[in-house]
Amino acid sequence: MVWPIRESLCITGSRIICSALRSNAPYPKFMNWIKTDGCHATTLPSFKEKQQEDHGYENMAEINGYMNLFGLMKQRFLNFKNQKYIKELEHFQSLAKAQYPKFMVIACADSRVCPSNVLGFQPGEVFMIRNIANLVPIMKNGASECNAALEFAVSTLQVENILVIGHSSCAGIEALMNMQDDTEPRSFIHNWVANGKVAKLKTKAATSHLSFDQQCKFCEKESINQSLLNLLSYPGIEDRVRKELVSIHGGYYDFSNCSFEKWTLDFKEREKNSYVVKEKELWC
Ligand SMILES: [Zn+2]
Repeated sequence: MVWPIRESLCITGSRIICSALRSNAPYPKFMNWIKTDGCHATTLPSFKEKQQEDHGYENMAEINGYMNLFGLMKQRFLNFKNQKYIKELEHFQSLAKAQYPKFMVIACADSRVCPSNVLGFQPGEVFMIRNIANLVPIMKNGASECNAALEFAVSTLQVENILVIGHSSCAGIEALMNMQDDTEPRSFIHNWVANGKVAKLKTKAATSHLSFDQQCKFCEKESINQSLLNLLSYPGIEDRVRKELVSIHGGYYDFSNCSFEKWTLDFKEREKNSYVVKEKELWC
């Protein structure tokens, strides 16, 4: 499996495009410095060399066409502080005391699909967890990140909506689809994505006539619905859904054409391990 994390590091749409990272070459030592006009990593100095070269200018974000990643981060933080925090001081000071998000979001950890960027969520609006392939495992006893986050979001924050967001070209779903069913998981990644096995089986049953890529796309959506069903296995969630205190939604971000599908599951019509989709919308 080629895990496209390196490609994910490229920030297209800004001036930072590091094409060298798309190759399978080892990471360069000078990741803190990148050329701002479409870099070729092999032409860059090491971070140490750069520090010596730029002695006395360490705090500058951009020097001679090189952008210091932490300099850039600092610049962005100060922009946030000056352009947003200070301008909305009262709002941020009330957020410092408490949060009242209406949404809990479960999204993939992939760097290209940050829900706050894509859907414009603002501080205080969403309680979020992100994991590989945006999976909600069926509830198991014992501590887990998912258990704890769902308990806090539902019982303490009393969110009104839970939204599971998947996306196109998900490497986690590809890993799930590529797994041999008759072998033990071989890595932490396989061990995790195996939580989507039911979605994989449904996909295989429904799409045996399709190509592998098309099967993966189908599974990217099927696994969202399976995660939505799995949500009901957590304490209190099904009860809140039935009382209409919480709604459960699916979302799918296709970054190949920048579209977003949103739907809601109707659990009133639910039969065992099946679901009815309602309020389906395509934003494009
Ligand atoms: Zn993903």
